[in-house]
Amino acid sequence: MPDFFDSDIKFLKGVGEARAKVLSDEIGVANFRDLLYYFPFRHIDRSRFYSISEITGDDFPMVQIKGRFLNFITEGEGLKKRLKGIFTDGRKFIEIVWFSQVQYFSKQYKPGIEYVVFGKPTFYRDIYSIAHPEIEVYNPEKPPTGFRGVYSLTDKLRKKGFSVVTLRKLVEQVLHHPGFRSVKENLPSEIMEQYHLMPLQEAFIHMHFPSSAEMLQKAIERFKFEELFYIELNILRFSMERSLRINGFTFGRIGEKFNGFYYNALPFELTGAQKRVLKEIRADMKTGRQMNRLLQGDVGSGKTMVAFMSMLMARDNGYQSALMAPTEILASQHFETILQWATQIGVSVALLTGSTKTSERRLIHDLLLSGELDIIIGTHALLEDVVQFKNLGLVVIDEQHRFGVAQRARLWKRGETPPHVLVMTATPIPRTLAMTVYGDLEVSLIDELPPGRKPVTTLVRFDSSRIEVDNLIFSQLREGRQIYIVYPLIEDNEKLDLRSLEVGYQRAKDTFLGYEVCYVHGKMKPSEKEYQMNLFVSGKARIMVATTVIEVGVNVPNATVMVIENAERFGLSQLHQLRGRVGRGADQSYCILMSKANAGTDTRKRLGIMAETNDGFLISEADLKMRGPGDMEGTLQSGMPFNLKVANLARDGQIISVARNAAKAILFGNRGLLSAEIMPDSADSIEPIHLPDVEINILRNELKHRFAHEVDWSLIS
Ligand code: ADP
Ligand code: MG
Repeated sequence: MPDFFDSDIKFLKGVGEARAKVLSDEIGVANFRDLLYYFPFRHIDRSRFYSISEITGDDFPMVQIKGRFLNFITEGEGLKKRLKGIFTDGRKFIEIVWFSQVQYFSKQYKPGIEYVVFGKPTFYRDIYSIAHPEIEVYNPEKPPTGFRGVYSLTDKLRKKGFSVVTLRKLVEQVLHHPGFRSVKENLPSEIMEQYHLMPLQEAFIHMHFPSSAEMLQKAIERFKFEELFYIELNILRFSMERSLRINGFTFGRIGEKFNGFYYNALPFELTGAQKRVLKEIRADMKTGRQMNRLLQGDVGSGKTMVAFMSMLMARDNGYQSALMAPTEILASQHFETILQWATQIGVSVALLTGSTKTSERRLIHDLLLSGELDIIIGTHALLEDVVQFKNLGLVVIDEQHRFGVAQRARLWKRGETPPHVLVMTATPIPRTLAMTVYGDLEVSLIDELPPGRKPVTTLVRFDSSRIEVDNLIFSQLREGRQIYIVYPLIEDNEKLDLRSLEVGYQRAKDTFLGYEVCYVHGKMKPSEKEYQMNLFVSGKARIMVATTVIEVGVNVPNATVMVIENAERFGLSQLHQLRGRVGRGADQSYCILMSKANAGTDTRKRLGIMAETNDGFLISEADLKMRGPGDMEGTLQSGMPFNLKVANLARDGQIISVARNAAKAILFGNRGLLSAEIMPDSADSIEPIHLPDVEINILRNELKHRFAHEVDWSLIS
């Protein structure tokens, strides 16, 4: 019998094939389960009305206003046609604007009637307006109560006629469907009791249609727990297995290559932090246990050198190494850097990415298998089955967290001794979080920048200071330096953002005559992107206009200016990553955060923090505290090997540790969830919880459902 959960979304009233496809393509909602788990991103208190005078700043959240329309005006022609309603709460005015279905809306609402309007105000031309709000007639007999969910939509969904209201109605249909009562609890009953969790059905109802703030809170807590519990269960299964058959290669000696490089070819003195971290890595790799280490270090702290020298340790013990990067550009930059170092001491290196030519690819495969290649650098392409090593001893994973635990495991055959693993990241992640993302691991920290680095000077500027900014760019160009100009690209509004990037590109060409300008964004074909990037890396182009694709890892020491347009739209941690692209050489560098002249105080405060400090850890802390738009969680969560719907890795530390203990208790008590031969001891003094078979099956199914794309199921079934 097909599960109620699995019913295709197309069977809902008002959906059908075509609209089902849009829902699935745009927000991944293909069946009832997906829809129920498509949670509102916020909830509006229906009993709270705002007065228009309360609305301030340039990023005010959704509001509910009660009032009347004074009149309606139609403006523009054709595609530009729009309808404007002047709406008042009796004291001040706000504009309600419709850009489509003008005809329809002009008949829909009447002046004089009391309405309730919901929407997000934007400030434009001296007045606040709300575009396409939700509107309903106000009934004083039955004033609104409870809470109402707001769902995020994409441009495309809106164009296809989906609104927050349509989505809400779809959810309502599913909740009222008789089959909904058959939805089974997916957490073990003992866990439910122990942690006083709201049952699943009830939680769905209160997540979408909370009757009170308290119920909503309980629903959110339940789903956070559920989400984190399954993540922990999944990750702990791997790490428990790992710690049980943990034998790793013993890299006993420091030999010819390492010493040769260290004494004769090292291009600079290592920092104290680099030395310390190398010692930690060396100590790990000689124990005979598999190393699983996270190397954290701020942008520019010199992680690549640490990676390279670790690879030399592997080489000296007769083993190969692999370095994986999340993008081709990053991989090829690493390749260039490492090739330069490696050739001096006769260590062989190759680059393998999606765009490596077939003939070359074959050759590389052969050399890896025969052991003639010492180091391979690449992207996901390294994970393909055809890539086989003679003896892979060390895997380094650079920047970001795109390679999940299970993906990494693809690098070596089951039953073989696993290579040592070093994960490098510039994102400051607290240790508990790191363990949630990567399983059990040790953490090394590079907390020192190479000497002689001048801290980047950060300036917060508004549109009115364009000329000053242009002059700074000019003077740097004249000194031979290179410039980044970065625009935000937020998926929700991709078209608009691309346009502003194009305009910016044109402006840069027109303004900085005689200097070549290149242009990079995420939607380009990889080959074209590569070409444009190379223009900049080679120094041929002096200015690069780009979206955040450059955020990760690009290294052009000659670049000294980073202009970030619409800086208010970036999270602080993201700004910090971007800023890390400059200040990589010996010259004074500048980061200029541009924003609108009427930026609100929050924006000024947030950007002010950037100007005050260059310390990534302080910034991420501030980011967490301020909870500004696009805050730390964005940086932290983008690129995680899993997606979080409700939980927040940065803020839910408490729930993470509770969920982790619950998952441990379950694994300790139910060996069936691990491979058969394994019996972990309960080292943490956690009481095992034994489950009935029915509940074990539920857990298995959930795990399969949630992590099917990454789990090697031969492990458990
Ligand atoms: P990240 O940690 O951000 O990956 P990189 O490894 O790219 O940083 O290093 C940034 C720059 O600093 C590179 O140009 C690198 O060659 C240089 N560098 C690394 N370590 C040192 C050092 N100890 N002294 C001087 N320069 C260094
Ligand atoms: Mg790096």
